[in-house]
Amino acid sequence: MSEAKTYSNYINGEWVTAGRTFEVRNPADTDDLVAVFSKGSPGDIANAAAAAQEAFAGWAALPGPARGKYLFKIADILESRLDQLGEEMTREEGKTLPEAKGETMRSINIFRYFGSEGSRIPGHMVPSERDRVFMYAFRKPLGVVGLITPWNFPSAIPAWKLAPAMVAGNTVIMKPASASPLSAWRIIEACHEAGVPKGVVNFVAGSGGELGDALVNAAPLKAVSFTGSCEIGNQLHEKASKRRLRIQLEMGGKNPTIVLNDAILGKAVGNTVNAAFFSTGQKCTATSRVIVEDGIYDEFVAALIEATRKLKVGNGLEAGVQIGPAIDQAQLETDLGYIEVARNEGAQLECGGNRLTGGGYDKGYFVEPTVFTGVTENMRIAQEEVFGPVLAVMRAKDYDDAIRIANNIAFGLSASIQTQDVSRILEYASQIEAGLVTVNLPSAGVEYQLPFGGTKESSFGPKEQGPAALDFYTDYKTVYLGY
Ligand code: NAP
Repeated sequence: MSEAKTYSNYINGEWVTAGRTFEVRNPADTDDLVAVFSKGSPGDIANAAAAAQEAFAGWAALPGPARGKYLFKIADILESRLDQLGEEMTREEGKTLPEAKGETMRSINIFRYFGSEGSRIPGHMVPSERDRVFMYAFRKPLGVVGLITPWNFPSAIPAWKLAPAMVAGNTVIMKPASASPLSAWRIIEACHEAGVPKGVVNFVAGSGGELGDALVNAAPLKAVSFTGSCEIGNQLHEKASKRRLRIQLEMGGKNPTIVLNDAILGKAVGNTVNAAFFSTGQKCTATSRVIVEDGIYDEFVAALIEATRKLKVGNGLEAGVQIGPAIDQAQLETDLGYIEVARNEGAQLECGGNRLTGGGYDKGYFVEPTVFTGVTENMRIAQEEVFGPVLAVMRAKDYDDAIRIANNIAFGLSASIQTQDVSRILEYASQIEAGLVTVNLPSAGVEYQLPFGGTKESSFGPKEQGPAALDFYTDYKTVYLGY
């Protein structure tokens, strides 16, 4: 394998190297050094913030459609490299090649969608109570915004924050996850090649612990959008609130799939397996609790275990592999730790439960897709986010019991129901405490054209994606005009 390239930070339109570097290794094969990154410092964040502040007035003054044009160019550049970017994402994050290409395509679609938003950016125009008064409210950008992103969707999440921030007229400092910064870097590279004016987009990779405070304390910062763990998100919220920064948090989940007696068995099993194990269970919208009504329980569980045992785990670059590795040693240990916790709590291990070893497995962080039955509501495995391929099966007496169990949790990101009963579907859509609700589909797998985000401990602030994304990145100015 050729020597890995060193990737620089991007500040004020320049590629800036730092004195320090960090490595990005393939979680499926740690001999594979994917990239070396310049490790940014608080000083780099301060420079990025100053550059973003300097660029703001000019960028905000451009007409929305002109900003949108840059986004179309970015999309075209990314699309011209789809195969390369997909492969790089598989190597840095571990998800399978079809998943990685699919995510890259989604980022491209996000840039096109928000490029078009440049010629909409809707406001309000309503009749006045008064004679000869014309009144309207239009959206203004906020200024400099900070974007902090996690490793699990290393392209789509940076894209779905950056694109609406830019098109609304804000300037940006992005801090990507240290485990998978390359896919985000490729977006910044595309911004550079698209000719985005200097200072509009800035990128500083490095340790979140070191850079986070510098970002939140950067004088020009007006807002911060964060996706990641509840622990870090809640800390950020405290710090940002002291400065009255606008903040948006998308965090953890413990998402349920409810299977009712009238579910189509094959579909319900397929959707559950997809949502629980694909992307190694490392989606914030993954199903980690399947709540099964009594009448279908035995049949469903038998089919679920059979389907789970058939999943092919391995290096996501290999054809036919369905489940990749955990992102790193720490996540591997978290997965195995929760498997141990579940066993000790008295849950019954039905399949999986081990680290995969031997052959190519020894070089990566592979965990068997794991199913526990006999899980009860107060067990930790029923309450805490694992973020790995570990599924808890819970039994419900009836629909009401299933909804009660599903809602008996601190989180509220996504939820799924498998049933043919239209009345139940509509009841569930209103009763379930989650921001993303699916029916006869996996709990994961959302599109960019509608609002995205959760409720309860999972999220805070306006929703991301779709037309709602502009709510976070803009403020209204209201005009009363007498004539
Ligand atoms: P994380 O550890 O919270 O990290 C997220 C980002 O925050 C990374 O860029 C990280 O940098 C940075 N960070 C770390 N410490 C910081 C600090 N003190 N101040 C500011 N930033 C800091 O989360 P993760 O492990 O990357 O991602 C997994 C979590 O994300 C899961 O809980 C998952 O549910 C959640 N997630 C939620 C959604 C959603 O939409 N709700 C989507 C995807 C993932 P470093 O990488 O350098 O540590």
